[in-house]
Amino acid sequence: MIPAPFYLRGFPGNDPLDNLASRVRLALLILITGVVSAVLVYVISDVFPLIDFHGRRMKLAEIAGFGLIVPLIVLPIRRSSSLVITLLITLPLYALDLFLQSHYRDHGRPALWDYLPGTFIMAIEPPALRFLVTLSFDGLVIGPLCLWLSRLAALLWRRSPADDGSSEPLFPPEWTDEAIPRPPRNAPFWVLRLLGFAYLLYLGVLLLGAFGASPWPLPVRFLIEMTYGNPYLAVNTVGKVSLMIVLASVAAFNYRFRWVTTLGLCLGHVTSVVGSVFFYFLDPPGPYRDFLLASAIVDAVMVALFIWILMRSVGDREQPALEIQPDLFSLPTTLWRVSSAGLALLAVLHLVGSLVLRLTGHGPRSLVALVQEPDPTLCNSLTLDVTVGLIAVLMLANRQLRDMFTTVLGRVLIPAVLFGLVLLAAGPVVVHHADGSVTPIQIWFAVHLLVMAAIATLFLSIRSVFFNVEYTITSFRASSALAIVGLHDALFEEAGRADVLQAIDRYACAIRGRKQGLLNFPFWSIEQVWPPLFGLRPPFSTMSSQEQKYFVRYSLIRPEPDRRRSFVPELADIAHDLGIAAHSVVLFAVYAGRLAHSRIGYVPPGARRRFQDVNPGPPPDADAAALPRDQYDPLNWLSGSPSGTRVVAPRVSTPIGEPVPPTEVDYLVVGSGAGGSVMAYRLACEAPGARIAVIERGGRFSPRDDVSDYELDMISKLYKEGGLQQTKRADMTILQGECVGGGSVVNNAVCYRMPDHIRQLWAAEYGLTLDGLDEEYDRIAAEIEIGPLSPRGINRSVEHKFRTAVTEFNANGGNLSDVSPVQVNGPDARGDGLWNLGNKYFGKRTVLETYIPWSEARGVQYVPNVTAVDFAVTKRRVESASVQTIGGHTQRIRIRKALIICAGVIASSQMLIRSRIAAPAGVGMSCNLAMPVALEFDENLDAFDGEQITLGAMDQGNRAIFETYFNPPGALSLMIPFFFDRHRSTMDSYRRLVMFGALIGSESNGLVETRPDFVLGQTFS
Ligand SMILES: Cc1cc2nc3c(=O)[nH]c(=O)nc-3n(C[C@H](O)[C@H](O)[C@H](O)COP(=O)(O)OP(=O)(O)OC[C@H]3O[C@@H](n4cnc5c(N)ncnc54)[C@H](O)[C@@H]3O)c2cc1C
Repeated sequence: MIPAPFYLRGFPGNDPLDNLASRVRLALLILITGVVSAVLVYVISDVFPLIDFHGRRMKLAEIAGFGLIVPLIVLPIRRSSSLVITLLITLPLYALDLFLQSHYRDHGRPALWDYLPGTFIMAIEPPALRFLVTLSFDGLVIGPLCLWLSRLAALLWRRSPADDGSSEPLFPPEWTDEAIPRPPRNAPFWVLRLLGFAYLLYLGVLLLGAFGASPWPLPVRFLIEMTYGNPYLAVNTVGKVSLMIVLASVAAFNYRFRWVTTLGLCLGHVTSVVGSVFFYFLDPPGPYRDFLLASAIVDAVMVALFIWILMRSVGDREQPALEIQPDLFSLPTTLWRVSSAGLALLAVLHLVGSLVLRLTGHGPRSLVALVQEPDPTLCNSLTLDVTVGLIAVLMLANRQLRDMFTTVLGRVLIPAVLFGLVLLAAGPVVVHHADGSVTPIQIWFAVHLLVMAAIATLFLSIRSVFFNVEYTITSFRASSALAIVGLHDALFEEAGRADVLQAIDRYACAIRGRKQGLLNFPFWSIEQVWPPLFGLRPPFSTMSSQEQKYFVRYSLIRPEPDRRRSFVPELADIAHDLGIAAHSVVLFAVYAGRLAHSRIGYVPPGARRRFQDVNPGPPPDADAAALPRDQYDPLNWLSGSPSGTRVVAPRVSTPIGEPVPPTEVDYLVVGSGAGGSVMAYRLACEAPGARIAVIERGGRFSPRDDVSDYELDMISKLYKEGGLQQTKRADMTILQGECVGGGSVVNNAVCYRMPDHIRQLWAAEYGLTLDGLDEEYDRIAAEIEIGPLSPRGINRSVEHKFRTAVTEFNANGGNLSDVSPVQVNGPDARGDGLWNLGNKYFGKRTVLETYIPWSEARGVQYVPNVTAVDFAVTKRRVESASVQTIGGHTQRIRIRKALIICAGVIASSQMLIRSRIAAPAGVGMSCNLAMPVALEFDENLDAFDGEQITLGAMDQGNRAIFETYFNPPGALSLMIPFFFDRHRSTMDSYRRLVMFGALIGSESNGLVETRPDFVLGQTFS
């Protein structure tokens, strides 16, 4: 099918350019854009002479500029609306044309290009409109047209493969759709929106005006020249306009703050009216009188509108206005309030000082020049003073207002300072007087910017300190913390918000590697970046909860078809990924917490009735045990006789001290997981007396002392990158253990033997002889007591459902083997259901209770918190390995006999690649994909009371294994494929849920590469 040449929203259908390799795609677009630009330049300069390029050199530069730069901009956003693509090309050229007109053509100097007189485009007036027309044409031709031609060429070159249906959504949209009601949009909302957009337009014209005023129609030109005539007041004007935009958008999107923010808008505009009228009558007739009168009238109309909005929203206003903390209770709050009072005073002083200087004219010339003229922009400055003063006074009232207005101040002062810095960098800062003279104000201007920057820094820092001290938030910036709270409130009741914020912060703190820092990013972007980009909304934390929820659903977590139809699908995809990441972290923290546990009926093992017995009966019996009433109550003690029960000796898993890395060993093992610890033990048995050390990147945790039922803590302690290890393109999460014991500590302990067809494949592809494998399996099975999972670990309700399901499936043509308990290295399984969080209840025999203590008893040294970096080879023999401790200390370990790398599939490959071994490494990686499906029943099953994987049935065609599967609430909440109320109601049925899952081996197409991804730092895809 011929692709659409122009599309208002995202590109419809399959893009033929996707079928080309990225380099070919770029080359094709460069070629086509170059040719089209050459034709365009030839036509407009030679065939129909409209433009004078002053020679061949400029023509070539134009062709090269279009041909080489535009494809780099267009290709990454090629699915975006043609309007967006056109605009992105047109806007910079438009700004350049405005500049050329004002600084070259108006002075009779030749510009980079000139419009030839007498042509039809010269008839378009004013020049600002002419440039818009001509450059939009260029933008359309060089952008959408060239893209369309490239798509046609790609189509001819390589036909799209026939649609195999894999791009179709797996489920009908109505299964997954979650409609969120649109928050009420009343008349005040629309008035405030309109006002916000009008101010944005004003700001846009002012900013474009910086490139040159002369091409604009007279009134606009007057406004621009007046504004830039005094850079000091121009900065304040930009500040005032930004303030009005932010206040109007907060007022629109938060009905609870509408009253206070509209009060700010109203008082600001009253100041404008009073100021304009005052200066109108004060001045002798001058150039600004008409303007003052006009703005007084416009502002008076706005004041009337604001009064109407104030009256309409008086009932919605935030009620508990006053501080409930006593004075000096909290240092940051006191600082915040004192600074607010200081800001109010500063605003008043600035207002009075400006007026005195303006009216008396006494003082140093450069100081007086700041406010002497023009009066309309002085009015803007006074408006800024009054509004900021009011905001500062309101910030004394309560915490919510302080949070909200600190965000507003940041949004206003930072852009104003940046704008000022650009003016400062652009050249000497001078005031242009009406009589033609100029006064340099460089120093005052710089001081002014410094003060503004200091105010922004002070308030943002105090807010950070507030979060540090009052909430002990140390990993997240305040803006990210506010986004976490906002996201929480959009989905749940406010009650648990502080706990969730702290839990996420502690989780982030404990993660090793750059994920800790990167976790800020999704939240920060939700607070700062996406709301203005998707519809000029205020910062996320300042919206009402209803608006936040609506925004998350319709702007961030949009289903794929919606994202494809958005204006910039590429941006929508990024927002979606970051939104999902942030949403998942919040969900996990909520459902790992006790508040949610009590709501959904999850009882932690220690509180279950069944677990009050030394030998608990089979699950389910997950009701909470009764509490003892006094010292005579038998409930104080475990029931059942302790004699004859098997309790692991504490010494086995409680280490003494922590060794430092040795300088020389016979054998060095990297990684202490399922592979490394077994290797160390076997070596210690076979080479008694040899010096063997095992280097482990993770920490050492004792199940008895360090392992808890709290999911967030355990995930951050025991898993690589806190469970957030993702591929280079962040499209897949790979879970791996990172602690002494590695994956064995967090896995489900299910032990399958390698099937025959895989054995044959490995023998054929890699030339491996696997003759001794069965013998080794038997040996290990005996050592770690592999056997069928005992009934004490199997939830009988789940068993009944699973057996019925498999029987029904087979009766309907399915081909599954009989259901049987899975083989596990878990002889003491009790059904706590937390094997993915360590081995607190000693149900399984991980390497922490087996090979590690056994090898330590034979002299093997385990060194945690040390990362092996690479190894050095001389004469085909590994000579040494370099390691780095968690504190950053690096050292070499000399190896006398052998290095054994067992760091897991990714890290082992990375180490081989880093050490530049000749053999190929990092290719053909495959993973196990877990695909559980949640089913909801009418009755309570309490599937959490029982091990996570209990029974299995094998697909006879060897494609997959079907197993029962369940998770504690935090992890399970991430597997439910909904986001809002449906997610919540599904989680509310937690006791009635069960999961059956297929574990499917992926193709061996994973890759570990040398070059890490710039952002994530990952090397594998
Ligand atoms: C949640 C989960 C459930 C699972 N369930 C099962 C199951 O039921 N049955 C099953 O058969 N398999 C299961 N697995 C997979 C199984 O645990 C792994 O295949 C197995 O642990 C791999 O052993 P390994 O020794 O190769 O690597 P790991 O056990 O991952 O050990 C590698 C160790 O090396 C360390 N390391 C990494 N880089 C370095 C470095 N540069 N320097 C020093 N140390 C380093 C790591 O911190 C880690 O501790 C599960 C895995 C997970 C994550």
